[in-house]
Amino acid sequence: MPQYAVDSNTNEIVEIGAWLLTRHRRGKPLCRVHNCGVTLTIVGEHNPDRATHFRHPPSTNCPSILTNAVPYRQLQNVPIDHAQIATIKMVFLNNIHQIFNKCSSLIPNLSFQEFFEIIENAHNLNIWGYRDIDLEYIPYILCTCNPYFVQRTPYRNHPFHFVFSEIQRVDELWINAGNNAHVIYRVDRTTQDVENINIIFDLNNFNNHSNLPQNRINSINVLLN
Ligand SMILES: [Zn+2]
Repeated sequence: MPQYAVDSNTNEIVEIGAWLLTRHRRGKPLCRVHNCGVTLTIVGEHNPDRATHFRHPPSTNCPSILTNAVPYRQLQNVPIDHAQIATIKMVFLNNIHQIFNKCSSLIPNLSFQEFFEIIENAHNLNIWGYRDIDLEYIPYILCTCNPYFVQRTPYRNHPFHFVFSEIQRVDELWINAGNNAHVIYRVDRTTQDVENINIIFDLNNFNNHSNLPQNRINSINVLLN
């Protein structure tokens, strides 16, 4: 249950405890997800057995609500260009350490096994053929290639999943590159709090060395060839 909301007066993100103390000077508590933005209610305030939190109105389609988090929803029916598949795979394999390092920045404590599994799922979805895809989008797409990531000590207190904002299908990101939908949400599946992560082209800032072992890289090579 969300602990944070956006103040409709100031656009500030406010934690529930702070909200209760200062609400006389606040507006309405809004959901942090851009394409949701509904007014949340406060529940549990007078119930000592329950932690106070924000809540969505019933029958919302907000992607932070677990029943709305349909795996691979935005990766369906993307037009495929068969002519580019070999090239995209090669570029991907040539940059595998940078991709791993960037994915690790998005998915805290990413294990080698998880990295292999998301590539396996991506391969089954044939993301290499997504028409006009840029390598820079691939780490973000990989984040959505797992239904969710389990809790994993350290750095990962709760399970979470990823969903792209405001789009029905992932290629809308590059078909309509001027839109303001260049955000991916990391949704905490325990608290339903959402972190907004801006989609940026910074793969070159990541090291092209990593701890990813050679035998994992060999398995990825075998998978893709
Ligand atoms: Zn919402």
